[in-house]
Amino acid sequence: MARIVMKFGGTSVGDIERIKNVARRVKSEVDAGNEVAVVVSAMAGTTNQLVAWCREADLVHDAREYDTVVASGEQVTVGLLSIALQAIGVHARSWLGWQIPIRTDDAHGRARIEAIEGGELIARMGRGEVPVVAGFQGVSPTGRITTLGRGGSDTSAVALAAALKADRCDIYTDVDGVYTTDPRIVAKARKLDKITFEEMLEMASLGAKVLQTRSVEMAMKHGVRVQVRSTFSDAPGTLVVDEDEIMEQKLVSGIAYSRDEAKITLVRVPDHPGIAAHVFGPLAKAGVNVDIIVQNVSEDGRATDLTFTVGKADMERALKVLDEARAEIGCERVDSDPNVAKVSAIGVGMRSHAGIASQMFDALARKGINIMVISTSEIKISVLVAEEYTELAVRALHAEYGLDAA
Ligand code: ADP
Ligand code: ASP
Ligand code: MG
Repeated sequence: MARIVMKFGGTSVGDIERIKNVARRVKSEVDAGNEVAVVVSAMAGTTNQLVAWCREADLVHDAREYDTVVASGEQVTVGLLSIALQAIGVHARSWLGWQIPIRTDDAHGRARIEAIEGGELIARMGRGEVPVVAGFQGVSPTGRITTLGRGGSDTSAVALAAALKADRCDIYTDVDGVYTTDPRIVAKARKLDKITFEEMLEMASLGAKVLQTRSVEMAMKHGVRVQVRSTFSDAPGTLVVDEDEIMEQKLVSGIAYSRDEAKITLVRVPDHPGIAAHVFGPLAKAGVNVDIIVQNVSEDGRATDLTFTVGKADMERALKVLDEARAEIGCERVDSDPNVAKVSAIGVGMRSHAGIASQMFDALARKGINIMVISTSEIKISVLVAEEYTELAVRALHAEYGLDAA
């Protein structure tokens, strides 16, 4: 007997037939003698619709009310799945975040889980009950509904697995595991049997949305055994593991991409101390996350260009903030480009091998793809390219590093 958390994403609960399919999968784990808790997302497309309605009601809306609206998608699916489970003889009960409770901070729209009280659920599971828990949501210190950021049900599931001291957390989705890159873009992508926590963390934060970044951080911190697998087949999935559990290590294990980038360039910024603070201070205060930053060294020691990237959704806000700080910054002009994408190669093998970066630049040059900005860290290299070249770049790099399936 094992204690398992099973998480099902939006496509897996996309209609009533699919919810019944999920109920059968849950029942088979229960029938095998396991204690099971389930976490579900909203039905596919629902959260996007709810977000769009908030924007339509007012482009700049109160984040607390946004959370009240977008958390509702998961309320529907926990109820429906509980009904479907009861219909096939499983003793199921739905739980919303505040009922458990799943306590978070008050950063509405991107809240962090602080604590989950698992005692009541553990007791009920011991009596054969199956808790069906709403993903993506929690409750703030003042008792308001919060949400955990897009894709947050993965984090709900891993956090619940940690709180319930589960033996494993199975993330069921619409692909049968973690691939060397997005299998919807590269047909030759290969499924990985195992991936290290560090690589999964980089893949997720660089755009592979198969797991939310915070869920990987949480699994790493609490030692939760996470497996990504398909809702629609019995194929074995991908285990996220420690580095020493992987025998043969490739130099590059995956390629990720993100279209959620925008590039901003401050042209001819005066080259003297304090300028970076004048630029990035106000942006931070406005809650704009800055990702890659590149500053050119000026030859005449006077003016230089400063380029950086922000999330696409933050670009307009960033430009407004920069416009207001224009006098202190003293640059010639501000250019912006929302049509960019970040493409990254990830692999723990990079730590001990040189030449991976130059191989990347060669491969992109051969396809005639211009690199706008480069950023590297210990186990990844990212480049910014024009958005229209995203797929071409991902495919070229996937082939270049020998990741294509035979
Ligand atoms: P869910 O609704 O189940 O949470 P998501 O859409 O959030 O599913 O995540 C699954 C999707 O992630 C897949 O359909 C796939 O297109 C995408 N994806 C991106 N990169 C990868 C990767 N390296 N491996 C697997 N899937 C990936
Ligand atoms: N329903 C939420 C979203 O679409 C959470 C999730 O799917 O994980 O972002
Ligand atoms: Mg997801």
